Amino acid sequence: MATALRTEEEPRRYDLPIGGAEVVASGGERESIDPATGRPWATVGEADAGDVDRAVGAARAALQGPWAEYTPRERGRLLRRLADEIEADAARLVGVEVRDNGKTVTEVGAQYRIVPEWYRFFAEMADKVDGTVLPRERPDTLAYTLVEPVGVVGAITPWNSPGLQVAFKAAPALAAGNTMVLKPSEHTPVATLETARLFEKAGIPPGVFNVVTGGAEAGAALSGHPDVDLVVFTGSDAVGRKVGSAAGAALADAVLELGGKSPQLLFGDADLDQAVIGIFAGICCASGQTCIAGSRAFVHESVYDEVAERLVRRFGEVRLGDPLDAATEVGPIAFEAHLESIMGRTERAVGAGGTLLTGGTRGNVDGLPDGLFFEPTIIADVDNEMELMRDEVFGPVLGLTRFADEEEGVALANDSRFGLGAGVWTADLNRAHRLTARLEAGTIYVNNYRLASAQTPLAGFKDSGVGFENGKESMRHFTRQKTVWLDYTGRVKDPFTT
Ligand code: NAD
Repeated sequence: MATALRTEEEPRRYDLPIGGAEVVASGGERESIDPATGRPWATVGEADAGDVDRAVGAARAALQGPWAEYTPRERGRLLRRLADEIEADAARLVGVEVRDNGKTVTEVGAQYRIVPEWYRFFAEMADKVDGTVLPRERPDTLAYTLVEPVGVVGAITPWNSPGLQVAFKAAPALAAGNTMVLKPSEHTPVATLETARLFEKAGIPPGVFNVVTGGAEAGAALSGHPDVDLVVFTGSDAVGRKVGSAAGAALADAVLELGGKSPQLLFGDADLDQAVIGIFAGICCASGQTCIAGSRAFVHESVYDEVAERLVRRFGEVRLGDPLDAATEVGPIAFEAHLESIMGRTERAVGAGGTLLTGGTRGNVDGLPDGLFFEPTIIADVDNEMELMRDEVFGPVLGLTRFADEEEGVALANDSRFGLGAGVWTADLNRAHRLTARLEAGTIYVNNYRLASAQTPLAGFKDSGVGFENGKESMRHFTRQKTVWLDYTGRVKDPFTT
């Protein structure tokens, strides 16, 4: 029985890992709730601005300490060791994350198979970032660039994939020689706290990776801290605007990975079996709580009725259940207020004229009466003016509608303030190429949906973000360039004499 995986020694208690010590938070404590049971399972410290300041101080000190003496290759070696530690501890970390955010053990397990690869990829990048000798405008001089870490990186992460989010941010930051203060979501702090212990176990010096747990107060203190050099944030566009503004006011750079309202375009020539799997998984994986969720499905009118029928059947067959059970396809919603928000958006969509094809209600799971479940939902007869199609629901709710031709499909897909992902289902190679050029999104999936890797940049266009994460080019966010001018004539000319 999967529920037996919930131990009796709970709730666990965690302090703030700052500068190699476990620091008691000044802002009190906060409970982390297991969304499958509705019960607290861990207690974590609530950092206030003073704790954030202490953590930034520890990161600054570490930057100027032994960490500065590590060569890029040595930093790479430590990151590889960290990858090994995470791999060895993956089963436990998966359990922790499932307890925190309610995503299924299958999905989180798959994520933890790739999390170590982020550290390995950026370990390889550590000694591949080099400066340039620049063309000379004057003889007997040399101009070149030194590439340096930017300094202290403040990272703020959302609740949906905490372990992966730490990897997205810490792997390139540390590979480049920075130090970090990371604030995980107040809803899912434990996986990050457990991962922080592995940084220490891998031999990464104290103060290089610090964690402050807490909510908006800690996040605001970190994003506007005058001694933070770069802020990397993943979360909603509403909070992203605040974080970007705070970083700007402190004259720090910011990388913002924000929300989405990603379209999936299904053409009449597509393999419908594959497309139905892709559309179902694109919105139901992680209970739809993923930035890249394909939440708007546009289906060509020639196959619309058939696709709608197949989707309704697949959604109806979904195995809603305990996320710790490997047979479960869709787990609970991460926290109560979010479940209420999803239900409210669903009701308003139906009230605005949408047709509820399936789902739309709270889900019941045997043995978990207080679990925060929501039935995967399809709402048809929607248009792009409706709230459902404009704003992120961040739940398993699909808006479904039809289009007449390619031109209309592209126009409908691009009619959004977001631009994170887009899916294209077609057997026509020419069309696929036409659409990848025309769709306004940072990632386009052709005949698949929701793939990601350390090698591939993840960028949000329009309101979905600023800058990008992942891929070798992302190292440039975490480094700064210093230009060096060298004159080797030994005869510096006095500009005031002729
Ligand atoms: P959120 O914006 O509510 O919170 C994100 C983080 O910001 C949390 O750690 C939160 O405590 C912190 N925060 C809240 N107020 C703050 C403030 N005033 N200043 C600084 N920090 C503050 O997002 P969420 O609900 O945790 O996550 C869901 C959102 O994240 C969705 O919009 C989703 O699309 C987005 N997301 C984007 C990506 C991506 O790569 N583009 C990936 C995952 C999630």
